[in-house]
Formats: sequence, C-alpha cells, structure tokens
Amino acid sequence: MLRDSFGRVATDLRVSLTDKCNLRCTYCMPPEGLDWLPNAQLLTADEIVRLVTIGVERLGITEVRYTGGEPLLRRELVDIVQRTTALEPRPQVSITSNGIGLAKLAVPLKEAGLDRVNVSLDTLDRDTFKRLAHRDRFEDVIDGLAAAHEAGLRPVKVNAVLMRGINEAEASALLRFCLDKAYELRFIEQMPLDAQHGWSRADMVTADEILALLSADFDLAPDDTEERGSAPAERFTVDGGPGRVGVIGSVTRPFCGACDRVRLTADGQVRNCLFATEESDLKAAMRAGASDDELAERWVVAVKGKRAGHGIDDPSFLQPARPMSAIGG
Ligand code: SAM
Ligand code: SF4
Repeated sequence: MLRDSFGRVATDLRVSLTDKCNLRCTYCMPPEGLDWLPNAQLLTADEIVRLVTIGVERLGITEVRYTGGEPLLRRELVDIVQRTTALEPRPQVSITSNGIGLAKLAVPLKEAGLDRVNVSLDTLDRDTFKRLAHRDRFEDVIDGLAAAHEAGLRPVKVNAVLMRGINEAEASALLRFCLDKAYELRFIEQMPLDAQHGWSRADMVTADEILALLSADFDLAPDDTEERGSAPAERFTVDGGPGRVGVIGSVTRPFCGACDRVRLTADGQVRNCLFATEESDLKAAMRAGASDDELAERWVVAVKGKRAGHGIDDPSFLQPARPMSAIGG
C-alpha cells in the first residue's frame, strides 16, 4: 500500500496525460501558453498503462483520473481508458477535461468503460469565456457537457473557479444552469498553481464568499447523506434537494489530513502532493530497465515522504516550480 508517515493511504491516482492545452485559463497559464514538454519526454501509452497497472495491481490504487493539461488532446485516450477499465481489480476511471472535443469523444469514452467526467466551466457568457480562457470556445464546452450527459457519463460534474471582478457575479447563474441540466457543480478556490505566479490571497474568492453569494439566491444545507471521507468538496443540498452543490476550499478549508491522492506527471514523475517540491522519476527508472517490483518500491518511498499539509499559510511556503497544467490538476 501507499502509506505515508502520517498514516494516510493513497488510493486515488491522478495521471497527467499531457501538459498541452487548447485553452489558456488565466488562473492556470499565460495567454501565450508554455514551453510544452518535448514528445520524447512524455510517457508513451504503454508506459502509462504499465505504471497504472502497477498502481492498481500492487499498490492499492482504486481510482484513476486522467487529466492534464487537456487529456482529450492525447490521441490514445480512448485506448488508455479501455486498458485501464480492463484491470483487475477494476478501478473507477474518470477524466477531468475542459470539454473541448467531448462532443465527439463522449460515446467512445463511455464504450471504453469511462465512469465519470468532470468538465471545467467558469462562466455562461461567451465574452467572459474569451476573456478568461483567451480562446473563443464556449460553445464547444457546452456541447461537450451535453454530449457527456447524453452518453450516460452521469452525473456530469462541473468544476468552476471564481475570479474576483471577472466571473464571481456568476456563482448563482452557474448553479442554476447546472441544476437545470442535472450536472453537479463544484466551486474550487483558486490556488497558487498558475504558471505566471500571479495568485494573491486577496484576489481569491474564498469558500465563505462563495457560500454567501449562493445563499443570497438559494437555501443551502449541509448534505449529510454521504460520509465526506477523503472527498475534498463540502456538499450542500440546494433548496431542500435533490440538487446539490460542492465547495472545495483547498486554501481556506484544507483537507490535507484526509488526502488519499497521489499524482503521476505526463513525464513520469510521482508527486505525493499538488504542492510537493520533490518528485520521484519513475520514467527514468523504467527506461533504464527497472522491474515492476523496483518501480513499485520507488513509488512506495515517494509517498512515504508526503508532508502533513500544503503549507500555503506558512511564511516559508514555496509555490511548486511546475504549474497545475504540468502536474495534472
Ligand atoms: N484541462 C482540464 C480542465 O481544465 O478541466 C484538466 C486540467 S485542469 C489543470 C484541472 C482543474 O484544475 C480544472 O478544473 C481547473 O479549473 C483547475 N485549476 C487550474 N488551475 C487552478 C488554480 N490555480 N486553482 C484552482 N483550480 C485550478
Ligand atoms: Fe487548460 Fe485546464 Fe489549465 Fe484551463 S485549467 S488552461 S483548460 S489545463
């Protein structure tokens, strides 16, 4: 098992399939994009499946989420999902996507066994979308959401990040939209993970503020129908249910004590935390001929060193060198 020195066990693996993206969300990367990893440095589909198989068969991974960057840009995605859902014991398999291209891929992904999809949507206004993501792709995202729902990838989850002065006034409209469509909305506090290092605490719309904005229009009550466990979202029923909304207060209401995640970057580095400053290079070991046992052992050691918390409030906090798009959000 992947147990750290505080007794937490990692069972939820996030795999970045690529650091590339077709959007440029302000809270993630600069408008001009980033220097993408050269292809030779990316794990191949076979290498990804080999590492995921080690995680599932030997190390107790029960959930695999493919992310990025934008995972739909990875041509082998359907094949990777299909090979992951064929593993024993069968893990839950999901993706986090910006939705562009999902209109075409939702059915093939469902047929490959994909269980769930999270789609990021921060605004319902095309111009605001352009301003926030620096690309005119709003309709593609809306179409992608509808296709995922239609394909039976339900409930479709929607991730939204609010930015002060840009889309914070849309909190209630986003919730109304998601309730109407039967999507499950979760707001995520903006974290210091943008490539430009432009995050500031004062600009962050906090979980408290999000709840206050929503409470002006909806009756929210803590949803105690399910144990929260390691789930980062605090969930609330809306107007008596069954509609729900989640708020992920990663910064102001950290859930590190219950964290069960471990990450694999697109270039094959294990990270025990989004905010880790150290990585363990499984790709180099694999390409040098390491056996499955040796790779598993390296992975165990990498998780053992996980810190107690992200430490954003600590004066000595250092933002990780890699941005969210390269780590895998
Ligand atoms: N491209 C895909 C997408 O946008 O869903 C997957 C990768 S993206 C890095 C994963 C999630 O991280 C998205 O929901 C995005 O909104 C969120 N995200 C990116 N940068 C963030 C930040 N600085 N703070 C909080 N969430 C962030
Ligand atoms: Fe791309 Fe996702 Fe980052 Fe937006 S949040 S720029 S969609 S990786």
